[in-house]
Amino acid sequence: MAIKACVSAALAALACLSAQQAAAAETCPPLRWMTLGTAGGPVPTPDRSEPANLLTADDFSALVDAGDGTVVQLARRGLDLTRISAVFISHHHMDHTGGLPAVIGLRWMNNMPGQLTIYGPPGTREIVDGIIATMGPQSRVGFGLGLGQKSTPPSDSVRVVEMRSGDQVSSGNVKITAVENSHYDESVSGKADRAISLSYRFQLGSRSITYSGDTGPSAAFEKLATGTDLLVSEVIDLDPILASIRKTRPDMPEAVFQSMSKHLSTHHITPVDLGSLAAKANVSRLVLTHFAIPPAPLTNSEARLREGISRSYSGPVDLAIDLQSFDVACK
Ligand SMILES: [Zn+2]
Ligand SMILES: [Zn+2]
Repeated sequence: MAIKACVSAALAALACLSAQQAAAAETCPPLRWMTLGTAGGPVPTPDRSEPANLLTADDFSALVDAGDGTVVQLARRGLDLTRISAVFISHHHMDHTGGLPAVIGLRWMNNMPGQLTIYGPPGTREIVDGIIATMGPQSRVGFGLGLGQKSTPPSDSVRVVEMRSGDQVSSGNVKITAVENSHYDESVSGKADRAISLSYRFQLGSRSITYSGDTGPSAAFEKLATGTDLLVSEVIDLDPILASIRKTRPDMPEAVFQSMSKHLSTHHITPVDLGSLAAKANVSRLVLTHFAIPPAPLTNSEARLREGISRSYSGPVDLAIDLQSFDVACK
């Protein structure tokens, strides 16, 4: 309505422009991804924090994975946990969950309002229950509201929603879809109480961000990413990693090495496979994170990563650093 009025009000062009801008801001809320931690795998590094991300979509803020150091990384950007209402866990490897006790515990200790919803694969409830159990001794001395005051039970500060492949949830205007990817092999996934590893797509109107979590090539992940504006994906620089294992572990039996090689090449994604997936899924922009690279500066791997991806994918590729933000522009 405001824009229509502007078209006919030629004499008030400047006023109309600002009205149009205001209308655009109203109809195009922010959709932003921040890589809080971009390390790959469970080996701590001095350069990159463990895997964690912050999604901002309209007025919804969520952590996506919460590796060790998550709350510190937030603080480095002047952010605290007050506005974060959800956490999405991709899978239960500790590099993706190690920061969860601090998120839950410090949020409760600071008496932050509202309930934190923690989404994740089956098993997430068991993990959260365990974290809550560790808070027992502290909650009994009433530190939630300050020493000597009555606290609300830590268990009241969180709720858990376990997700399986194909499940969708909504929060406000944001629709979130989870699919099972290929990070766990059949020996795990064949069991009845099997663990699963999830990739997520966050959709806000016509815009979207898709997050790989940890995965190898995966038809379900590729389908989930179809047409997405921003694909945030893990990547592995496979050959140098295998060479480095050969060098540092000459004692490793060949069968164990072959098993390790199979794990790394099928449960994580190489630049060539990722480029192929991004091209087939027609993604607009690719952001690399969770760098499974040899213990050397990323610059040593960058050319190989870019070359492998560019064999199939010609869109923009960013190699994320910690605390970097990526905005999905309005259409
Ligand atoms: Zn990982
Ligand atoms: Zn993993």
